[in-house]
Amino acid sequence: MSTPPPAALAAAVGPVPQGFTLPMPPVFDSVEADRQYRKEQLAAGFRLFGRFGFSEGVAGHITVRDPENPRWFWVNPFGMSFHQIKASDLILVDHDGTLLHGSRPVNRAAFVIHSQVHSARPDTIAAAHSHSLHGKAFSSLGIPLEPITQDACAFFEDHGLYSDFRGVVSETEEGKRVAAALGDHKAVILQNHGLLTVGQSVAEAVWWFITMERSCQAQLLAMAAGKPKLIDRETALITRGQVGTHLAGWFQARPLWDQITASDPDLFD
Ligand SMILES: [Zn+2]
Repeated sequence: MSTPPPAALAAAVGPVPQGFTLPMPPVFDSVEADRQYRKEQLAAGFRLFGRFGFSEGVAGHITVRDPENPRWFWVNPFGMSFHQIKASDLILVDHDGTLLHGSRPVNRAAFVIHSQVHSARPDTIAAAHSHSLHGKAFSSLGIPLEPITQDACAFFEDHGLYSDFRGVVSETEEGKRVAAALGDHKAVILQNHGLLTVGQSVAEAVWWFITMERSCQAQLLAMAAGKPKLIDRETALITRGQVGTHLAGWFQARPLWDQITASDPDLFD
């Protein structure tokens, strides 16, 4: 007998060969192993952001909570190319702004936003933000993503809008307001700025970011060409339950993870 797929993926899986087990998020029996895995995942996430062209100068940050202390998180060094980030380059800070590990500074906006998001959302492990082109173009409209495609349904009634742009985020209070706009959703559109996503793993947060950016692009294309037809609410909610779960997000990122870890083995250094 083959192992049945978990319920969250069952609708997407056809016949499964005997003895085949679908990959699942790993579980670790030591903090050290979990920490190393999270750092490697974070480095891989940055490499993917680089591949997708999500960098704009020094803007953008992805963070992962440390497995030992929920008030610590790992983040990219300020001013370092996404294409070159290795696990050993990552910086560890706490929610009060104390640098605990690393030899380079942290972007102030990264600390201010991510410390408040991690604080407000103890259920999340990772958060991702960048100034990707279609996300920031879409953000200027001040409207939500509509359920116009199967993929966009992942965000149906599951993303917030932060409409109070006041320049580069530099104060903890503004980070708190961003976290409030995120609410209990998987993503928030930062108006006139870009996108921010969260997940229960780096892979999940990064996948939501990639597919949200592409959903912004799809809606911009559709709105430029005509008036998109919406998926009805009931169907959109059912579809969200299929493509928008934590496990679906983690699993959808698998092909990209296989690609980037094969092409960029130095990210593990
Ligand atoms: Zn930003």
